[in-house]
Amino acid sequence: MVESLDQIKERITQFQKEKPHYRDILDLYTQILAEQTKMQSQLKITVPQVDQKLVQSQLNKGIPLLGIEGFALDLEAAQMLFYALSAIGKSATSKMEDEIPRITEEIESGNLNLEGLLSKHYDGHYITQEAEHCGVDKGVLSFLVQGSVRPSIVAQMEQLKDSLNLEEWLQGQCPICGSPPQIAQLRDEEGKRYLLCSLCGCQWRWERIACPYCSNKDHKSLHYLYAEDEEAYRVDLCDLCKGYIKTIDSRKLGYDPYLDLEDVVTIHLDIIAMEKGYRRSAPTPWGPWPLLGEDALGSA
Ligand SMILES: [Zn+2]
Ligand SMILES: [Zn+2]
Repeated sequence: MVESLDQIKERITQFQKEKPHYRDILDLYTQILAEQTKMQSQLKITVPQVDQKLVQSQLNKGIPLLGIEGFALDLEAAQMLFYALSAIGKSATSKMEDEIPRITEEIESGNLNLEGLLSKHYDGHYITQEAEHCGVDKGVLSFLVQGSVRPSIVAQMEQLKDSLNLEEWLQGQCPICGSPPQIAQLRDEEGKRYLLCSLCGCQWRWERIACPYCSNKDHKSLHYLYAEDEEAYRVDLCDLCKGYIKTIDSRKLGYDPYLDLEDVVTIHLDIIAMEKGYRRSAPTPWGPWPLLGEDALGSA
């Protein structure tokens, strides 16, 4: 959330004109982003002081600074956001329309502990277990939980990233939280490659040609996939781990991309990669949107 919300909204409007089949999902995305941005300015978080020596020795050993459990959360803000996102989600898809009132009911009756869920946002096993215990959809529950804690997490990433040398980390996992990347970007004239963390939004440098999920550098088992008329977008496929990651070439875009949004407007590339048998290692920003269903892409 480095760029201003107005700039991102302008870009979204442009995308909605150019790619009308993404109109509905972008409407939902805009509303969520607006609520998260509003919350970001009101957060009360004490970011742990970092000892530079400790940071260096940890990073030299290849250990991420905080790990996924290490982010401090403003739980009050996260709870308010949870209800705001629930209200938005209810009119987004028929599945969310059915599931969200049931989730709210389970929270109000005490069967689901909202504070506990938010505190353990990183523990997919716990969230699944709680969802199954109450008979609610785990995808929708997880989508709401992740969206609610995101402002706290991003705020800390913003404060911590300057204490790291993001050019020299060169690992496939985030230097702050250790999460896998959700998307990659080629930047600068020479096309240096950067990864975007799927949890905290940190960006760090990575090899130009290598799979971030298994570190494979063998050209023979690394391939690309392009969509027609979209030379700025490619999908990097790895035959060794069967993982894929989309890479945005900023040099061919003509604007400075907001990567999280670029991830949404390239879902068609995820679909192609998945249909070819590759899998996405990082969570998706479109949550419980019916990815492969007719609703996802309209008649496109
Ligand atoms: Zn991270
Ligand atoms: Zn791989």
